[in-house]
Amino acid sequence: MITTSNIDHHANIPTPLQEIHHKLLAEKQVRLWVKRDDLIHASIQGNKWRKLKYNLLNAQAKQYEVLLSFGGAYSNHIHALASAGALFGFNKTIGIIRGEPTPPLNATLQHAQNCGMQLHFISRQQYRDKEQPDFIRQLHQQFGRFYLLPEGGSNQLALPGCLEISQEIANQIGCHHYTICTPVGSGGTLAGLSLSHSHRPTILGFAILKNAGFLKAKVSHLLAEHPQHNPWQINLDYHFGGYAKVTHELIHFVREFTTQTKIPLEPIYSGKMFYGLFDLIKRNFFPKRYTIVALHTGGLQGERKNTK
Ligand SMILES: *Cc1c(COP(=O)(O)O)cnc(C)c1O
Repeated sequence: MITTSNIDHHANIPTPLQEIHHKLLAEKQVRLWVKRDDLIHASIQGNKWRKLKYNLLNAQAKQYEVLLSFGGAYSNHIHALASAGALFGFNKTIGIIRGEPTPPLNATLQHAQNCGMQLHFISRQQYRDKEQPDFIRQLHQQFGRFYLLPEGGSNQLALPGCLEISQEIANQIGCHHYTICTPVGSGGTLAGLSLSHSHRPTILGFAILKNAGFLKAKVSHLLAEHPQHNPWQINLDYHFGGYAKVTHELIHFVREFTTQTKIPLEPIYSGKMFYGLFDLIKRNFFPKRYTIVALHTGGLQGERKNTK
């Protein structure tokens, strides 16, 4: 049986908070710490572990045996869910995958299938309607009783797990005024981070999607039941053309960052956040002697083979 203490026992918690050194940081006199959630678990990385934690406990408490969710072919959430389902003894996980199958399976989906996940491909058109009650009803007819997680895992129960990241940072950092940076996909991580009560950090998200204006409303909606949250904002300037789009400049930055810091990044989420953060530091966005914490959300499983 999984209990809260027992579930954390499977992860590397608290994850390390590591200061990094770089000539730009020295020049601008800001301190930058990286919260290494990429090290939380080998196959349930970063914020996906944090978002799943209370969902798994809830699913178990309500005696669900099947977990179902949605994602693209490289989805870190699908990868994590399949791993977690197997690790915590759920009978089955089902992944509703966007688009037609193009055999052979990529590494993400192959891993999911190896964990026992049943993959079910639907058209992009159908995928857009995945949250419609009619479609969910259809899924229930097909698959019976299941615990439903939204795409990316960002529901209400994702928040307390992400709040724990803020609390760990508060215990580790030793100062009161700082900004926590995170990449933003569906907004659940940002929303959870902002719930920290012990310290009052500012939360700065970097949207990795193009046309991400909707995110503000989405995060506000997630926080509607939580009037006590810290200030947050989402920067929309560093999406590099959209989800999973990259440029040579971004790839170059990611390589250079990894060489200098020995911290592995991927260009889809953490690479864009660090690029954006370094650019803001260059532009004197932060005052001198300011402290910044960048959340490394993991995602290293999803490296595309075709990124140059
Ligand atoms: C899913 C994911 C995110 C986005 O988190 P949200 O809670 O959806 O905003 C960020 N980084 C990585 C590596 C992810 O896999």
